[in-house]
Amino acid sequence: MTAEGKKLRIEEPEDYAVGVPGVAVAMRYAMAEMGPVRSARTLLTLNQTTGFDCPSCAWGDPAAGHRKMAEFCENGAKAVAWEATRKRVDRAFFAKHSVEELNQQSDYWLESNGRLTEPMYLAPGATHYAPISWDEAYKKIASKLTSLSDPDRAVFYTSGRASNEAAFAYQLLARRLGTNNMPDCSNMCHESSGAALTETIGIGKGTVTLEDISDHADLIVIVGQNPGTNHPRMLSGLEEAKQRGAKIVAVNPLPEAGLMRFKNPQKPKGVVGGGTKLADRFLQVRLNGDLALFAGVNKELLEREENGQSVLDKGFIEEFSAGFDEAAAAWRALDWAEIETHSGLSRAEIAAFADDVVASKAVTVCWAMGLTQHKNAVPTIREVMNFLLLRGNIGRPGAGPCPVRGHSNVQGDRTMGIWEKMPEEFLDALHKEFSFAPPREHGWDAVNSIRAMREGKVDVFLGLGGNFASATPDTGATWDGLRKCELTAHISTKLNRSHLVHGTEALILPCLGRTERDPNGFVTVEDSMSVVHGSHGKLAPGSPHQRGETDIICRLGLAMFGEDIGWGEMAADYSVVRDHIAAVVPGFSDFNARVAEPGGFTLPRPPHDTREFATASKRANFSINPVTSVVAPEGHLLLQTLRSHDQFNTTVYGLNDRYRGVHHGRRVVLVSEADLSSLGFADGDIVDLVSVWADGERRAPEFRIVKYPTPPGSAAAYFPEANVLVPLDSVADVSNTPASKSVVIRLERQK
Ligand code: SF4
Repeated sequence: MTAEGKKLRIEEPEDYAVGVPGVAVAMRYAMAEMGPVRSARTLLTLNQTTGFDCPSCAWGDPAAGHRKMAEFCENGAKAVAWEATRKRVDRAFFAKHSVEELNQQSDYWLESNGRLTEPMYLAPGATHYAPISWDEAYKKIASKLTSLSDPDRAVFYTSGRASNEAAFAYQLLARRLGTNNMPDCSNMCHESSGAALTETIGIGKGTVTLEDISDHADLIVIVGQNPGTNHPRMLSGLEEAKQRGAKIVAVNPLPEAGLMRFKNPQKPKGVVGGGTKLADRFLQVRLNGDLALFAGVNKELLEREENGQSVLDKGFIEEFSAGFDEAAAAWRALDWAEIETHSGLSRAEIAAFADDVVASKAVTVCWAMGLTQHKNAVPTIREVMNFLLLRGNIGRPGAGPCPVRGHSNVQGDRTMGIWEKMPEEFLDALHKEFSFAPPREHGWDAVNSIRAMREGKVDVFLGLGGNFASATPDTGATWDGLRKCELTAHISTKLNRSHLVHGTEALILPCLGRTERDPNGFVTVEDSMSVVHGSHGKLAPGSPHQRGETDIICRLGLAMFGEDIGWGEMAADYSVVRDHIAAVVPGFSDFNARVAEPGGFTLPRPPHDTREFATASKRANFSINPVTSVVAPEGHLLLQTLRSHDQFNTTVYGLNDRYRGVHHGRRVVLVSEADLSSLGFADGDIVDLVSVWADGERRAPEFRIVKYPTPPGSAAAYFPEANVLVPLDSVADVSNTPASKSVVIRLERQK
């Protein structure tokens, strides 16, 4: 039985996404959390040019004037309902529930109780949080931070929901204090993309627009991404592309419904008909087999060129690239049997994929965590870039890389300076604008922050949104580290695990959400397509004690440093923050005026705009990426952690994953029939998942086995429940991103 009091039920996976059920589920959430009036007021302004930006994923919005009345998806509606709920977590709630008792509850239950209403403080040794005034709260944090023996004994964590203004003020606060310890959720998601793209094309972001996908690409390759759940409005763009004859190749270990068919509820055939078939080709790569696949197709394209077919864009290679000859030599040396073993695909399947490529003029590759959370993630994404460069698929309509961001403003936060290793130019501009010398030594990212906390090197952990205790790998290590801090403080909308896994003393600072009006001004965000636009909350704050994130950060700056760089002004009027951003961040000149335009503006993307590449060679770089993959030893499986359909990052909206046929439960592990019989288990068995690493074993107890069409050797389970299995030291080379998609485990029958 689950929290809902319903029995776990397993059905056949769906073969299509959205449809009428998508609308029904969205409306059910909206009515349950917001009621009819708030639902109308929020959902009809969601993603509209004068409305607020969806607090969920970072998929782009159609140009101004091209937005539908309902410009949102099921998961966008869930995110809004979850934030704009009428439920409240107030002082009576905290008086009733001790921290220890709350920590026994599920992540779903914690957040389902509603919005935080006032600042709460947990004194040293106390069992319950108690109310505290804002001024007292600021004083406590300010005195702790300004009395540190070393500014690097503080960590400033950022979740990707933070607006541009909040992110800019936050990095300013950390650097004014003297530290670059700024881990953010990007460290756990697209850090590998940033590293590979910066090296190959000189910019750490995607280069394509929404229109490149919906109007121009004639081949769209979707790799390691599950758009049906994680970027649902992308399906509309894919449907438009299909209707004009484009082809889609889906590469994924799992046959996700949102890759197969889309029933668009805003179209008749999506309501009464079969909807739109999406993937023309589904390549069921084995977990971590993507590098081998792209090395294989690149080898195939080269072989065809050398056999006299004209398949490579020689003009582009000569004029705009470097390193082709060396890469070509590496492809020639590859062995097809090795490629087949590592990819889990046959040469024939790879050759068929090459046929699709050769038949297309403009190729866009979209990807997400399925590529970024592996030891070899950076070489894999470099190989994807090799794939695009071979046929000049960059810097022209319909062509280029599209890492689809998970959180609504995670890309904007990085642009604003939320990174432990910002370039010298940014720090110089900050120095010039604010007349203080920012620290130059690189700080800690998420994994290194956990290591430092565990070693007792951190006194203060500050969280801007998010849920660090649940979002990070190696739950045991993270919790150990958080508990070693003297103070943990979180700027949050809802109660979550990070408030309960705390330092000697702890603070919760309730902030406004995207749906709410902030008296100090509107905020801005940047989506996966580098479009910067405004977000204007519509609802009155849920409590008189809630404050805007930017306001909270600037008032903390005021409490720490007085009026030295204009904290009060920035707190009271966010357009002042934007003027500072315009002076410091490239591409934001005249920010306030440009963002006032309907739909905002697009930041420069030189590889797309002018085929200019800010790399060391000033060219697009081919690279050599030896084919590797993680292979689980005999008797073990390779596990990927993933989201259910009722989940956004660590926020769990419900206990269903209807596309995969899982209802009323989350402690399930998806395993193939072949593996079950070879390992001697059966569908329905209850097992412990045990991960194996150099420093020992990690256990996640009581998972129900679900027979599922995964490739042999590959398993899957939801995070945050499975994060305990991900060793802290199991990270991607170069990017240090946790390798949450390739965890070696064994199934252990419950004693
Ligand atoms: S696609 Fe993403 S941004 Fe758009 S409404 Fe859905 S969750 Fe929100």
